Amino acid sequence: MQLPKLDLVIFTFGNVSVADRARGVFAIKPSGVPYDTLSPDKMVIVDFKGKVIEGNLRPSSDTLTHAVLYSEWDEIAAIVHTHSTYATAWAQSLRDIPIYGTTHADHTTGPIPCTPPMDDKRIEGNYEFETGYQIVDFFKNNALDYRLLEMILVGSHAPFTWGNSAEKAVYNSAVLEEIARMALLTEQINSDSKSLQQSLIKKHFERKHGPNSYYGQ
Ligand SMILES: [Zn+2]
Repeated sequence: MQLPKLDLVIFTFGNVSVADRARGVFAIKPSGVPYDTLSPDKMVIVDFKGKVIEGNLRPSSDTLTHAVLYSEWDEIAAIVHTHSTYATAWAQSLRDIPIYGTTHADHTTGPIPCTPPMDDKRIEGNYEFETGYQIVDFFKNNALDYRLLEMILVGSHAPFTWGNSAEKAVYNSAVLEEIARMALLTEQINSDSKSLQQSLIKKHFERKHGPNSYYGQ
């Protein structure tokens, strides 16, 4: 319900899920239900293969993407998918979001990657399931760690974010949108903008995440 409040979705766009690892299930937003009418009893409980375990409504159409990420990545507890405007515009442009400033560096040490668009075989197959593997394979092939980088742009589609709680996954979606907006404006003001210098990247990431982090929230 935070997603429309944070201007990350309109109408019934987007979805959030939260896993219960001990029970091997996750709760996900039902498909097509407006955010302001959501309540706990409307959530759909699904296992990590995407099979509905409990609930009367249809789970989000992106449920299988969430199921793949939970089954492949042991340490995530929640996933958010939006079509937030600025992050989606970068995804549609098939561009990584360059690391231009310290706002970005507070959250990760490199560009926010954009996967290639999915190939026809994946699209014509089990599309939502394959979207999950488009993300997982991209992390594997590029030696990325989902525990350090909690966001991705799926090329020609939109962002996915995750985290160790629903709050963190939603926070990551909002942060990603803000970083995407700032990066676009940065390029508009100076089309020759350069990536942030390594020393600032290190300083900002480590003061928030390193063993000697001192950045208070
Ligand atoms: Zn989508």
